[in-house]
Amino acid sequence: MLRFYNTLTRKKEVFTPLDGNTVRMYSCGPTVYNYAHIGNLRTYIFMDLIRRTLHFEGYKIKGVMNITDVGHLMADSDDGEDKMAVAAREQRLSPWEIAEKYTKVFFEDLRKLNIGVPEIIAKATDHIPEMIAYVRALEEAGFSYETSDGIYFDIAKFPRYGCLSGANLDDQLAGARVEVNSEKHHPADFALWKKADPRHIMQWDSPWGRGYPGWHIECSAMSKKYLGETFDIHSGGVDHIPIHHENEIAQNEAITGKQSVRFWMHGEFMLVDGGKMSKSLGNTYTISELEKRGYHPLDFRFFCLNTHYRKKLNFTFEGLDAAKISRQRLNAQLKEHAQAPNITPREKLDNYRASFKAAVEDDMNVPLALGVLFTAIKEPKSKDIFELATEFDAVFGLDLSGAALPEKEAEEPVPENILALSEERIAAKKAKNYALADELRNKITELGYSVVDVPGGVKLKKL
Ligand code: AMP
Ligand code: ZN
Repeated sequence: MLRFYNTLTRKKEVFTPLDGNTVRMYSCGPTVYNYAHIGNLRTYIFMDLIRRTLHFEGYKIKGVMNITDVGHLMADSDDGEDKMAVAAREQRLSPWEIAEKYTKVFFEDLRKLNIGVPEIIAKATDHIPEMIAYVRALEEAGFSYETSDGIYFDIAKFPRYGCLSGANLDDQLAGARVEVNSEKHHPADFALWKKADPRHIMQWDSPWGRGYPGWHIECSAMSKKYLGETFDIHSGGVDHIPIHHENEIAQNEAITGKQSVRFWMHGEFMLVDGGKMSKSLGNTYTISELEKRGYHPLDFRFFCLNTHYRKKLNFTFEGLDAAKISRQRLNAQLKEHAQAPNITPREKLDNYRASFKAAVEDDMNVPLALGVLFTAIKEPKSKDIFELATEFDAVFGLDLSGAALPEKEAEEPVPENILALSEERIAAKKAKNYALADELRNKITELGYSVVDVPGGVKLKKL
């Protein structure tokens, strides 16, 4: 029986979908103004584990992920500069180009890490009318008020505010910083729609004049559109619990009065060298940077799988080295198993299967499930152990079946047209025409190859 930890009830609960065999799931996606760092990617690996676990249990999934390509401000608050606008200014690109560039890189990262893409990818800028309609509905039902700079959700009208994080409003009031916006009724009231300064770079017509949506309304409008008023799972990083997801609940449930999300699931943070990841400390690595240092993206995936998703994970290069070596050993052993005749007693295989399933069903205890695999590969060499590993790999996503491939098959020659594009890209980079270089990289990716800059050249790899 599959059990997931539900942030809302603070306990593990038996999971079955509301609607027969299909699980409806919403996952908060990236704000596409920068490369995803390894912390972000840990969260997307966690979301992928949910998908793989559900598939392993025989469920179908209707998954939705948003791509925030607008109006997400520097902090969780409603003030400060738009992240997209800052990136656009710094890189001398339009916000649309910034969004396109980083969306492509995001999907490239997902592919490298064997992260399944949700069935529906919803861009915020494609859903402005839905968001406006949502804000209108909240307004008509009396849950909002207008100030000189926007439309705000009135949390005093939603007494359950704080139910997810367990924070009460008085605590929030005491902890709130000095308010910049004195027109707000309560410091935790949040913007549903912001009125745009004429210089604001992305803006749309609305019943309240030109403006742009608040961040939280995006997820409420899209989840309702694709998954309905009540759906099974909502996932995200733990940082989203106290503000973003509380605000989503308020928006979702104010009018309907119904529970909108049955299971809230949150992935813990990744730390680097025991501390916070931040650009100023220079410790926000990307997957391409790890590749440049000689790691395979799946070394990172394997590193993540060794810690339960609800525990903090401290990233160090020593840890990644250990994961790399351990993965190499695993693949080498599986290769030997793959080449041996079947000799493992059936009962043993079934026992391993049962232990694996029990681990996965216990709130995705993947470290324990990996332990089952590591015990199994100690059995005398036998092809059925290799097959067992590939069965388990439906959850791990470590390309374990590839372990049996002869080296040569894995390395096909790179086609001429890809090589030519790569040459063009190198020339563009030399000429410091980075926009063209990025465009060429995207073309190469579209044609099914990844481009990795390595010391003294470029590595092209089939995706
Ligand atoms: P953002 O693009 O900033 O909205 O972040 C994308 C996702 O990464 C969100 O779901 C965050 O919860 C998550 N995230 C941000 N920093 C970390 C971290 N250090 N460890 C794990 N997840 C993170
Ligand atoms: Zn969200």
